[in-house]
Amino acid sequence: MSPSGHPLFTFTESDFLELRGLYEQFAPVGSPEPRLLSANDELAAELGLDPRALHGADGLAVLSGNQVPAGATPVAQAYAGHQFGGLSPRLGDGRALLLGEVIDVHGRRRDIHMKGSGRTPFARGGDGRAAVGPMLREHLIGEAMHTLGIPTTRALAVVATCKHVVRDSVLPGAILTRVASSHLRVGTFQYAAMHDRELLRALADHAIERHHPNAAEAPNRYLALVESVLAAQASLVARWMLVGFVHGVMNTDNMTISGETIDYGPCAFMEAFDPATVFSSIDHGGRYAYGNQPPIAQWNLTRLAEAMLPLLADDTDGAVAAATAVLETFPDRFHEHWTAGMRDKLGLVDVRPDDEALFAELLGLMQSQRVDHTAGFRSLSGVLIGAPERARSLFADRDTFDDWARRWIDRVSAQGPDAHAAAAATAMDRVNPIYLARNHLVEAALSAATDGDMAPFDELLGVVLRPFDERPGLEAYTLPAPADFGTYRTFCGT
Ligand code: AMP
Ligand code: MG
Repeated sequence: MSPSGHPLFTFTESDFLELRGLYEQFAPVGSPEPRLLSANDELAAELGLDPRALHGADGLAVLSGNQVPAGATPVAQAYAGHQFGGLSPRLGDGRALLLGEVIDVHGRRRDIHMKGSGRTPFARGGDGRAAVGPMLREHLIGEAMHTLGIPTTRALAVVATCKHVVRDSVLPGAILTRVASSHLRVGTFQYAAMHDRELLRALADHAIERHHPNAAEAPNRYLALVESVLAAQASLVARWMLVGFVHGVMNTDNMTISGETIDYGPCAFMEAFDPATVFSSIDHGGRYAYGNQPPIAQWNLTRLAEAMLPLLADDTDGAVAAATAVLETFPDRFHEHWTAGMRDKLGLVDVRPDDEALFAELLGLMQSQRVDHTAGFRSLSGVLIGAPERARSLFADRDTFDDWARRWIDRVSAQGPDAHAAAAATAMDRVNPIYLARNHLVEAALSAATDGDMAPFDELLGVVLRPFDERPGLEAYTLPAPADFGTYRTFCGT
């Protein structure tokens, strides 16, 4: 119990701690003069936390790493990972700690995790720290994704540590406290597989119980686990694609078993539609480009299946055949989620044979005419209610757009009477965001925060927390970056 009686977390027993070999106990190093930069009151309520604790001295003591809260057993988790295709057998939390697990108000188990809390036994050459900008980016983009309905880890708070972090320049340091349904990754399985088959089995059982309980009923529970993770990832990546999200660093250590988005490093939302879009400054080959995300997800899942092989069948050939059959379902599963999402984006309520051609033609026009992904989709609802100007203004070649739009309107009209078009337009505005964390605004907000001014961050967060409701005065948030913003690049060494 903390001095004034407002403990921040009530931790519950953690089954993860049974998995000895997958973590090292370690305490956060602490911060000299911590300051709360951002707090997520909505998430705090979901976790059943006392808001006085979150905003008070007791909370700050915990969130800054100055006090290990009662009931916590902080550990740095071990994992391996394929980074840009090459295997690193020992990564692990170099600058992060799992503080413990809590049960939220809905009865769900959630990890409480700190990032930037100091060097751990997994730090290798790293300094164990994180800078204010990248930690606030995790807060902002995570909440943007969450409000778009996309499964994600979420920030509970970002605290300035008043330590200096040396990157290309000297930056103010911060600690992010992050909440996830768990931090189990594909890389956790790769690490366990390299060390001990029984540890691998225990990890798989733990993951089934925690995230994929239906797999426990299957004749081959471990194969069912792989299939269930694959299903979750196919859905997740489809959702990314539908909002133009580029994760940027889809290494196997950055892919969760739960199906939540994790690690917002060199990520961004695409503006002009182009499948080759890359934001990460170190992704020279375009491995993690927007359009490559589905095959890369399948590649990562193949690494998961490989790690799981010893559990899948008694003989290797049988295990490989079983795993391959599951892995080959990825493209169809992804496609099913993506086409369902595209139907929603275009106001279609039933399935017709020509739909896919309609989608492909629209995307082709958007690509060749460099139409902004978010503004382009959002503008389409107007076309259904007699206000096509906004959409038409986004396409340089209006004739090709008008031709496509005519066929699309016919398609929508064929669904029912006239009143249906208005309903379709309203439904479209509930899935096509008008506001998004646009790259130039994110950069401006993070750069101001780094200089001590949180106002642009708070404002941008407030806007993206209601992505579908058009409000007057916010036009600047709907526009792509000005031409002089140049090619947007985000950095991995955060
Ligand atoms: P990330 O790119 O954030 O997913 O990190 C990849 C790996 O590098 C993980 O094992 C991190 O813990 C580790 N890492 C990244 N930055 C640091 C740092 N500043 N100090 C220690 N380890 C780090
Ligand atoms: Mg990572």
